[in-house]
Amino acid sequence: MSFDINNLVRENVKSMKPYSSARDEFEDFDTADMIFLDANENPFQNGVNRYPDPQQSNVKSVLATQNRVSKKQILLGNGSDEVLDLIFRAFCEPKVDNVITLPPTYGMYGVLANLNNIENREVLLSSDFQPKVEQILEVVDACSKILFLCSPNNPSGNSFSDDVVVKLLESFKGLVVIDEAYIDFSEKESWLNRLSDYPNLIITQTLSKAYGLAGIRLGICYASEEIIAVLNKIKPPYNVNELTQQRALERLSEPEKIKGEIKSIMDQRAELLKVLVDVKFVEKIYPTEANFILIKVDDANKRYNELIAKGIVIRNRTTQALCENTLRLTIGTEVENKKLIEVLKQL
Ligand SMILES: *Cc1c(COP(=O)(O)O)cnc(C)c1O
Repeated sequence: MSFDINNLVRENVKSMKPYSSARDEFEDFDTADMIFLDANENPFQNGVNRYPDPQQSNVKSVLATQNRVSKKQILLGNGSDEVLDLIFRAFCEPKVDNVITLPPTYGMYGVLANLNNIENREVLLSSDFQPKVEQILEVVDACSKILFLCSPNNPSGNSFSDDVVVKLLESFKGLVVIDEAYIDFSEKESWLNRLSDYPNLIITQTLSKAYGLAGIRLGICYASEEIIAVLNKIKPPYNVNELTQQRALERLSEPEKIKGEIKSIMDQRAELLKVLVDVKFVEKIYPTEANFILIKVDDANKRYNELIAKGIVIRNRTTQALCENTLRLTIGTEVENKKLIEVLKQL
């Protein structure tokens, strides 16, 4: 049977009429000599007195060119968190449908499942943090709408093997969301290049990590035009504000600078990995393709508190599945890294 997105969309979403904003109804933005009296805005210019472009056309143009997709394959949100929430709301019927998540992983999938009253079927990753395909397929039923794959995974740092992801894309009949928040720190290619092979694939990325814009909240969703059209229908009309669109455009226009920062972070990651091998209380260093390192230590709570006392805040992951006594260290600047290394050696 061929894939039809309409079989996955919630009935109320299928039948609803989207809100039509003033800017949707007259969308020609470059008409400088037009007088806009359609949106009840204050006419006195201050840079942000007008509503933002609801379709973020300029930002999408740059992303489309840089990533070789069409603008119609892109949806932007107020952080990936909003994008993920829209995916839940478009496809998952509360109290009926379920999603599958693979702990230890990003906490927002479970939170959004709770919030939307959707059952979250958790299937632990293997001990080397890879998805267990058979176990996943065993918990799938006709109401399993979304499978969340975070690759590179937070908090483990590794990415999932291509074979495993392909198997899941081919055997799971719902939507497969690959969260690529950390893809820029990995040697692996993005799954974006495979978008046209898999009609059930959704890829999320963000400007919050490698692009250094966590403060502006810009999340990106890439998928087929059909999937994006569904999400577009239900998104709040002005979900990405004008200042965010401006800052995103500025930043996207300096790819060399971003590459330089990523390289510096990756160099510091290599530096820290070298040092960690000789830290006595570090029992295991997990392979990483992200801007953080997960380590297993003798006593995570104790080491966490010791680092705080020395003025360094890291993330204690000891309560997460398969993560007993682990700590997650984000890679900082060279100066911050030196300080961290100095402190680690003192403990
Ligand atoms: C940090 C992170 C994000 C980013 O979320 P934003 O809302 O875009 O800031 C998404 N997914 C994962 C796995 C993350 O770790």
